Amino acid sequence: MKTVKFSNSDEKLNVGKIVCVGRNYAAHAEELGNEVPEFPIIFLKPPSILIYDNDNIVHPDYSDEMHHEVELVLLIGAKIKNASLEEAERAIIGYGVGLDMTLRDLQSEFKKKGHPWTLAKCFDTGAVVSEFILKKKISLTGNENIKLSINGSLRQNSSLKMMIFSPTEVVKYISERMTLEKGDLIFTGTPSGVGKVERGDIIDAEIENIGTLKNKIV
Ligand code: ZN
Repeated sequence: MKTVKFSNSDEKLNVGKIVCVGRNYAAHAEELGNEVPEFPIIFLKPPSILIYDNDNIVHPDYSDEMHHEVELVLLIGAKIKNASLEEAERAIIGYGVGLDMTLRDLQSEFKKKGHPWTLAKCFDTGAVVSEFILKKKISLTGNENIKLSINGSLRQNSSLKMMIFSPTEVVKYISERMTLEKGDLIFTGTPSGVGKVERGDIIDAEIENIGTLKNKIV
């Protein structure tokens, strides 16, 4: 069982399901040649693939193009279904920094064939989270800088305000399709600047006021 750890509390929480949003920043949708979506694009990652700050990300040998995607991750603290915006906002109890590692070559092939993306997104060590910060102990501006560097060179650099669907809208929408429960994590999509990583690379990711991640590709 994977757990969520907090930077500002000794509490621990078991991780439930991991729900991810695709194409939630217009500039990222454009860089991959995709339309800006009318509704959030949703996919899942299994909690068993989750790793943490300082763990190694293992590059699968069946892919030649693993990409980094830095994302704001929401921690759900209550069971909700068909939530209103207010209920969705209340259900978000914490924030973390995440990496949605993606096998872009497999994903492009699956998209072309109309197959599910599952195996481009689900592989051991393919999801990373930082320690979480409890929402009741901080106040976010919604304007926080989100960035990622590879070996010290900046690759992704944006602001949380550039999201197409806000965290609350994302949670409301997902809860209309599946019940969300305490311990579920929501990856809210990545800004532009995604790109390939190689074995030996060091990823540094940070969201202002929330946290940092450092992971090596092996
Ligand atoms: Zn993503």
